[in-house]
Amino acid sequence: MRQHQVIIIGGGLAGMRAAQKAQEMGADVAMISKIYPTRSHSAAAQGGVQAAVSEGDSWEAHAYDTVKGSDYLGDQDAIEILCSEAPGDIYALERMGVIFNRNDDGTIDARAFGGTSVNRTCFVADQTGQVLLHVMWEQLLKSGLTVYSEWFVTKLLVEDNKIAGCVALEIPTGRVEVFRSKAIVLATGGIGQVYNPTTNGLVVTADGQALAYQAGATLMDMEAVQHHPTTMKANGVLITEGARGEGAYLLNSNGERFMDKYAPNMKELASRDVVSRAETMEIREGRGIDGCVLLDLRHLGRDLIMTKLAQIYELARDYASTNILEAPVPIQPGHHYIMGGIKTDVDGRTWDITGQGRWAGVEGLFAAGECANVSVHGGNRLGGNSLLDTIVFGKRSGAGATEYANANDWAPISEEAELADQEGSIQGIFGRPADGLRSSTLRFEMGNAMNDGIAVFRTEEGMTAALNSVRDIKERYPSVSVHNKGRVFNTDLLSVLELGYMLDVAEVIAVSAINRKESRGAHAREDYPDRNDEEYLKHTIVHRGGDGDPVLDYLPVTMTKWEPQVRSY
Ligand SMILES: Cc1cc2nc3c(=O)[nH]c(=O)nc-3n(C[C@H](O)[C@H](O)[C@H](O)COP(=O)(O)OP(=O)(O)OC[C@H]3O[C@@H](n4cnc5c(N)ncnc54)[C@H](O)[C@@H]3O)c2cc1C
Repeated sequence: MRQHQVIIIGGGLAGMRAAQKAQEMGADVAMISKIYPTRSHSAAAQGGVQAAVSEGDSWEAHAYDTVKGSDYLGDQDAIEILCSEAPGDIYALERMGVIFNRNDDGTIDARAFGGTSVNRTCFVADQTGQVLLHVMWEQLLKSGLTVYSEWFVTKLLVEDNKIAGCVALEIPTGRVEVFRSKAIVLATGGIGQVYNPTTNGLVVTADGQALAYQAGATLMDMEAVQHHPTTMKANGVLITEGARGEGAYLLNSNGERFMDKYAPNMKELASRDVVSRAETMEIREGRGIDGCVLLDLRHLGRDLIMTKLAQIYELARDYASTNILEAPVPIQPGHHYIMGGIKTDVDGRTWDITGQGRWAGVEGLFAAGECANVSVHGGNRLGGNSLLDTIVFGKRSGAGATEYANANDWAPISEEAELADQEGSIQGIFGRPADGLRSSTLRFEMGNAMNDGIAVFRTEEGMTAALNSVRDIKERYPSVSVHNKGRVFNTDLLSVLELGYMLDVAEVIAVSAINRKESRGAHAREDYPDRNDEEYLKHTIVHRGGDGDPVLDYLPVTMTKWEPQVRSY
């Protein structure tokens, strides 16, 4: 049996940062990732990372913008930490070797992003995530971190409500092993493939949220799912907010800059929920073009586009057959991000989070990055704050996990029983008739149902239809079969396991959304169009009941100094 004091599950930015911190503190730490770490989805982040590093800016202004962006659902103690630690973490990244774009005087350049009162988004052209990930990976290689690359975690092991380790499948061989650990940090990323289409890659399948939920941890504000205003119709691929940050316009079929009407001050740079709703209204009212509106970059000129937005030029050429130097590119709102996730405190802990002895969670289990919800994004995330979340709270959860591991004993584990159990499940799947239901068919059904019912605008009827579809798919899931029954690189098998994770999470999203009977941030209900602070200024929390169904409760929002106000841009 392999054994490490601290195990980090996830090799994206949150996982790398957690591993780096744990190592720095002297822990015996290992990282497990189902793909080679630099292929993690953090590499797709284009636009940048927010931090108040420019003259005249302050972390307090950043915090206020974030609280307002969250539609007052973000926990303000966590937001204060996010924003006050941001500049120090950006300089730390710079010292590691991140080549941020610079001003002529050598200071770090910052571009505009939606919902921010000043230019605050530090960037590396339109490849920020890729550069951060590679620089951090270099540091980890140098430090000799133990990495289990292409290992797929199938289960968290919990004994007496304490983390004991996990079970993982080595993808190249199909071998299953038990890992023992005192603390685990989940850093498994988002839920993208729960939706179809999405800006997220095929590997983003809600594994960590489901593993935590199945192990007894709490998920929070899962209804807070973000649709990004600028995605391409053909395949949902993102055009970064950095394009609007650099000055691109949104036009309707009459050639009007329609954001004047919806957000007279910030126009295209209002927050994402506002812009996505405006686009949907234009399209619904007949001022769209084939289900899209237009993003016009022509006036930015060749020099700016080719130096700061070169990837966008290529993506529009390849997926929309558009030369953005000469023509506007059709775009539409599309699934992008989840603000909700595994409920944690500001050090990544998933247990004792209610402070009321209820739903104690799993001791020794930590979470960070997009799979977690420390509640810095609330009802709507500001662009550039997610990379920051991975960096700040990745670091803090790495520290928290190391401290916990130093102070606690190993929990007992029954290796043989766990291996037999996992092997039994795999053989169970292999034993089904090969001509049975395909996981890809059910994946599309689920993704389409979620996109139809729980997207930019929502109604009781639409969300209930989505929930019914998800529950119907869950009933058929046990008969999903695989064509490939070999053990080597069996992606067919992985796809079945990932679908199981996603169905649990889709159900929690739907149940949480139906029960928030108001509009807040990305959760815009046509049947309850107003924000209702009196009844819903609270977090939705969900845990898995004894019968496997989601059980809902609510937690108060933490406020420090910003009282809820009417939100306009
Ligand atoms: C196209 C795009 C552009 C974006 N642009 C920006 C931006 O400009 N600024 C910004 O702030 N945010 C941006 N975001 C959001 C941001 O990139 C993500 O929220 C963030 O990078 C997530 O990082 P993470 O470390 O939490 O997860 P990821 O980077 O997704 O890493 C998840 C890791 O978990 C591992 N994993 C998952 N399941 C398992 C399992 N079962 N077993 C083992 N390993 C597992 C994976 O192998 C992977 O290593 C963007 C997102 C997208 C999709």
